[in-house]
Amino acid sequence: MRLKNKTALITGGNSGIGLATAKAFIAEGARVAITGRNRATLDAALKELGSQNGESRAIAVQADATDIAATERAVAEVAKAFGRIDILFANAGIPGATPIGGTTLEAFEAVLKTNVTGVFFTVQAAAPHLNDGASVILNGSVMSQMGAPGSSAYAASKAAVRGMARVMASELAARNIRVNTVSPGATRTPIWDKSAPTADAKVQLEKRLAGMIPLGRLGEAEEIARTVVFLASDDASNITSAEIFVDGGTNGSPVGGPMLRG
Ligand code: NDP
Repeated sequence: MRLKNKTALITGGNSGIGLATAKAFIAEGARVAITGRNRATLDAALKELGSQNGESRAIAVQADATDIAATERAVAEVAKAFGRIDILFANAGIPGATPIGGTTLEAFEAVLKTNVTGVFFTVQAAAPHLNDGASVILNGSVMSQMGAPGSSAYAASKAAVRGMARVMASELAARNIRVNTVSPGATRTPIWDKSAPTADAKVQLEKRLAGMIPLGRLGEAEEIARTVVFLASDDASNITSAEIFVDGGTNGSPVGGPMLRG
């Protein structure tokens, strides 16, 4: 067990990559606190996490990452329950189309508020409670690199995540706290539900996305989770300020995707 007796806080732990990571952390021996806005999915996630090994090694705290006071309260509640925090996975994030010519200020700022401001203030709130030697992982995205049409706010937000991670890594190095970014490519989670609301639309979307991925398929949330476990563990003891892409080659080898290689 690589995370035995460690404590972890995962924002957006009630769905997709966050929930898969919560499961992986518990399987490696950690106690996990998850946050999210939706009480019903938090409760459902807690049930799933508790039934993993009979006893519950998880708590759920409802908190909106864009509400700084609520984030500070949530972190304080986790610190009260766990004592010090060893692992922080700032994972909560939202997509959002922001094409030139069709974007309101509100839509643009909503993405930045969750994906950038929310992440910064989550780390700031957690910092006093982190153990020396803790591991902080931020969730980035290949979209920071892709130049995909209509993605200005989202791409900017994930480029900002990478930039912030580097600054945070330098600020927290004196406490031996490592800060890294995991950057997924297209990964099968509920994040795609809005853009592909039916089963048929999902098949079409996955086909289109897979055509741009050298390994020819979407990633699974568990594949991101395994990388986050690695970054959280002592196996990554000399890795800080890094960005690890878990994207089937999307970022590094875009011309290798089935659509372009023919
Ligand atoms: P999901 O939609 O499944 O999960 C998103 C999570 O974030 C949910 O738990 C949601 O909980 C939480 N969340 C969103 N907004 C807030 C908020 N304001 N406050 C608190 N929690 C919030 O998507 P994924 O698991 O796919 O996404 C997780 C991260 O991975 C995101 O940062 C995303 O940008 C990133 N990512 C995903 C990729 C993919 O293809 N799936 C690719 C690249 C990056 P709730 O609704 O209860 O608030």
